[in-house]
Amino acid sequence: MSNDNGTSAIQRRGLMLVLSSPSGAGKTTLSRQLLDNDNQIQLSVSCTTRQKRPGERDGVDYRFVDTSTFRGMIERKEFLEYAEVFGNYYGTPRAPVDEALAAGRDVLFDIDWQGTQQLRDKGRADLVTVFILPPSTRDLEKRLLTRAQDPKEIVAQRMAKAADEMSHWPEYDYVLVNSDIATSLSNLKAILTSERLKRERQVGMSGFVKALREGR
Ligand code: 5GP
Repeated sequence: MSNDNGTSAIQRRGLMLVLSSPSGAGKTTLSRQLLDNDNQIQLSVSCTTRQKRPGERDGVDYRFVDTSTFRGMIERKEFLEYAEVFGNYYGTPRAPVDEALAAGRDVLFDIDWQGTQQLRDKGRADLVTVFILPPSTRDLEKRLLTRAQDPKEIVAQRMAKAADEMSHWPEYDYVLVNSDIATSLSNLKAILTSERLKRERQVGMSGFVKALREGR
């Protein structure tokens, strides 16, 4: 592998960083802060059939689509994974992820356990999975209620679903208990740094050694 000067260079393959958690564990705040702090990682913007919440932007937080558009995308195999969550469809568009990884960039996924299982089952290389837990069930309920963007019955539904989601934590590579956002962010950055430095993610090593031997 050569760089612009014609000399040999080591490059790194992009990795897929998955964050999952029950709603209200602070995952959205954590992923936004990570994206603001790190210019090598980009968010995978999911498609969803759910209603837009106040403050959400189409194409930034999600791509909001109707059910027939979503089904068409399923048929054309445009999703890397998709799942039904709380009666709505959510899916990860394949093309932007493939493009980013090929360019050596990392991709952050805010997806549930079903999507994570699908990525793992597909044997995607460079998958790093992190589960975020709330410090307590009481804390989770408080966060869901104060968020108050969803109708009350949806909050109750999300609380009931939290236990289901949480039961999947043993399937993840790392677990973060989110008692304090600054500490969680620093732990998440530490995970990302170590994963980026793993030997198997470096490409062009043999070319680099060969070039060194040949004095290039
Ligand atoms: P929310 O409606 O609160 O934004 O998201 C509900 C749940 O859907 C969250 O657990 C979120 O991680 C998950 N989710 C968001 N996008 C996707 C996706 O593309 N695929 C899957 N499998 N889950 C997603």
